[in-house]
Parts: sequence; C-alpha cells; structure tokens
Amino acid sequence: MAKPLLAGNWKMHGTASSAAKLAGELADYSAEKPDMIVFPPYICIPGVVSVLSRSNIAVGAQNLSHFSEGAYTGEISGQMLADIGCSHVLVGHSERRTHNAEHSELVAKKFAAAQQSGLVPILCVGETLQQRQDKLQLQVIKTQIATVINVVGLASVCKAIIAYEPVWAVGTGETATPQQAQQVHGFIRAELGEQGLDTQLLYGGSINAKNAADLFTQPDIDGGLVGGASLEAKHFMNIAQQINEQK
Ligand code: PEP
Repeated sequence: MAKPLLAGNWKMHGTASSAAKLAGELADYSAEKPDMIVFPPYICIPGVVSVLSRSNIAVGAQNLSHFSEGAYTGEISGQMLADIGCSHVLVGHSERRTHNAEHSELVAKKFAAAQQSGLVPILCVGETLQQRQDKLQLQVIKTQIATVINVVGLASVCKAIIAYEPVWAVGTGETATPQQAQQVHGFIRAELGEQGLDTQLLYGGSINAKNAADLFTQPDIDGGLVGGASLEAKHFMNIAQQINEQK
C-alpha cells in the first residue's frame, strides 16, 4: 500500500499572495509529513508551484476540461495544467457536480482527459443526504465508479485515487462517523479488489484536528481530502501529524 496521503482543497479562497504565503508555511514545517498535495485556485497554481519546489508537497488543480485543446472559451486543459507543474487533478468534486451540473459521464471524460495528460485524477464520489437516508449510499458509489470504469477501464481507475466524500459532509461541519466512512471504503476496496487491483482511498468531508485521528484509524482509509481545515497551515499540519500517528 502507498504511503498515506493528505490532500488540501483550497476551493475558491485566497489571492495569489495569500496562496503563496500558505504554501510557504507548509513548506517550512520540518515535521515528518505524509505524502501531501494542495489544490489552489487555477490562477494561484504557478506561484504555489514555485514556492513548493523546495518541498516534497505536490500541486494539483481543482478541475480540468474534458477537451484536450480548441475553441472552448474559459476552459483549461490537462496539458496546460501539467505544463505549469500540476501532478494531480480533482474530478467529480461534489461542489462541481452540484453547482456546475457535472454528471457522471462528464466526470468520466474528465478522468480520461486527466490521465491522457499525465495527471493523476482524484475521483470524488459520494451520496447525498437523501440517498443515505434511503440506504442507497453503496449503490450510488458503485454507479459513480462504474461510469468511470466503463470509459477508462478498471486498471486505469486503480491507478488513480478515489476520495469518498459524502455530499452531506462536505463543507457542512458534519463528518461521517468512522464506521460510516469505513463501511464505504471497505466496500470500494472489496469491489475493486475482486479484480485483483487496489487503489488509494481518501476520506473527505469536514475533517478537522478533532475528528481526524478516529477516521484515520480505520483500516481502509488511506488518507484524507480536506477543504476548510486546509486553509490554515497549523490545522492542516495537525491533521498530517495524526495521519502519521495512525498509519
Ligand atoms: C472538500 O472540499 O473536498 C472537502 C472535503 O471540504 P471540507 O473539508 O471543508 O468539508
């Protein structure tokens, strides 16, 4: 199994200078770190890449176009992201599924475009509150992942990273219990494992310094995708330390 991973999604926060400052604070932490990736807003990426070149922290983008090039005003391709130093990209984040009407077929195309550009996609999946209340969470997750497998194949999905992010837990302050998260992670691992393949599984949804340790003790949670708590270096590094202690 790969080293534990902590990813920070900075969403649409900050400015070029505040992003570079935050990156500098992360780079300056001398404590042992898990593998780390930060996802700044597009325009902050070059500055953050430059600051983090003195560290082992990788940089990714929060989105990409499913097209590779052409007359697509306002879009950013995977190749452009790789060119400015990104190694990873989020696809299917619930905020994009909700606010930008990104359905699973489009997410699958973005996943394919990322891999074609040499980026590692982090595929975000998760159920809504209503779906959980209807006990549909495993079916929803299975369908979201299957849609991507249908486009790129199982082996390609296993080369990526999957983040289980229940929609009701993202940015709400409400976290899945360790048992709820483990149930879904164990299910994904078993589904992919049936084919003899494995992939790195992150949990995301209101992780903070207080709930991180209990989540990371779960056997099938290999790391975290953190939004709000990644915007302050000391909170993010506190979570990183807890990953190190539990994994
Ligand atoms: C996210 O943006 O992926 C996320 C999990 O956000 P938060 O930690 O704020 O819930």
